[in-house]
Amino acid sequence: MDNDNTQSDTLVEVQQEQVLHLYEKTGLSFWGNIVIAIILTVMLSLQIDPSEYIYLFIWFGLVLAASLYRLLVSRNFQKEHNLTRDKINYWANKYINISTGINVIWGSIGVLFFPTLVLYQGLMILSLLSILLASVPLLAISRGLYYLQMLIVLLPISVHILLIGNTEHFIMAVALFMATISLFAAANYIHELLFELQKTQAELLRQANTDQLTRIPNRRHYDQTFKTEWRRCSREDLPVSMLLIDVDYFKKYNDNFGHSEGDQCLVKVASQLGNISRRPGDIAARYGGEEFAVLLPNTSIENAMMLAERFRVSIERLDIKHPDSEFGVVTVSIGVSSCDPMQRDPNNPNTDVIYPAMLMNSADNAMYLAKRQGRNRIAKQGCGEQKIADALREEAFKDAQRTEQVMEYKEPA
Ligand code: GH3
Ligand code: MG
Ligand code: MG
Repeated sequence: MDNDNTQSDTLVEVQQEQVLHLYEKTGLSFWGNIVIAIILTVMLSLQIDPSEYIYLFIWFGLVLAASLYRLLVSRNFQKEHNLTRDKINYWANKYINISTGINVIWGSIGVLFFPTLVLYQGLMILSLLSILLASVPLLAISRGLYYLQMLIVLLPISVHILLIGNTEHFIMAVALFMATISLFAAANYIHELLFELQKTQAELLRQANTDQLTRIPNRRHYDQTFKTEWRRCSREDLPVSMLLIDVDYFKKYNDNFGHSEGDQCLVKVASQLGNISRRPGDIAARYGGEEFAVLLPNTSIENAMMLAERFRVSIERLDIKHPDSEFGVVTVSIGVSSCDPMQRDPNNPNTDVIYPAMLMNSADNAMYLAKRQGRNRIAKQGCGEQKIADALREEAFKDAQRTEQVMEYKEPA
């Protein structure tokens, strides 16, 4: 089920990418609309009674205003940072509504100012077909939506031509009908092609974000989510916590049972992660080797500790035998850290004192502390409490040097 969810999630992500593309191309659509509207207006002004000029200019003014409005909206969209899924949906709907509005104005011209000369009528039909071709990018969002645009732009003029009722116009209506059918078929084909591409892109994205062994998010996915969530928490002044989980004595487990059993053990450990990362912004990932990272935005360090302890117990309860560990079963050590991204230097309130890398550093230090204190336990460190862990590391380094010196001393004997 999780897999299906990620698959549809990535598909939505890819479709959202398409909305970004749509907005990028608004400048081009603007000029396309204006050039065609100018040609039609000049042509129609030669055909209609001067008393109707005012209506023709109002029509032109409406196309210009609506296209300009879409251009302005796209400028505002480009200024928008931190695009959440809801925001992208909002912008997509806005784009669709404005474009449908523009096409309604285009459709109306086929009824309001139908020229008398057949040649000009042909030119008007071609202009409307060009407008529909220019709307093809909408197919990336939805096929139904594009059919709606076809209806809005071509139906009024088609009915108008048929109502005239002579052979010439009947033939014109048949030609328009054939062009519409071809456009319909082409739209269908393009949509299917785009959908296949989107599906492939979504699948590739999902694979690039998933750890092949445990089928949970990988480090790449974690790092990306971390960036987004850190920004969100900075903006909303919320704490960000994380857990860094490391399997204890895993090398010995591999040595004892073999690499393949080791892999299965990692899969079992990963399967328990779903119990602690449940909220939308949470992410639990395989960070590398036998290490897992869990990001918990908008979570206090106390709650993160509670979740970490619950996870530690759940792994112990898996009861995976590990004779080379003093606990007899596979266990984990967990480093818990928490940052307040908006924390400022009290002496200089404009200066940031917390940086994103501090969260991982602190979790790493805390995990190291948990190992030093005996493993199968949790330890915490807040952002910026670097000194304690540095001191511990220094002490361990000295220990290691001392051991090396003893070994060197012993060797000649
Ligand atoms: P500690 O309690 O201090 O964490 O000791 P440890 O043995 O778990 O840590 P160490 O870093 O010495 O060893 C990690 C081991 O994890 C070594 C490596 O072979 C094993 N490992 C890393 N990735 C995988 C994997 O994908 N599959 C398997 N089976 N083993 C892995
Ligand atoms: Mg490790
Ligand atoms: Mg380990």
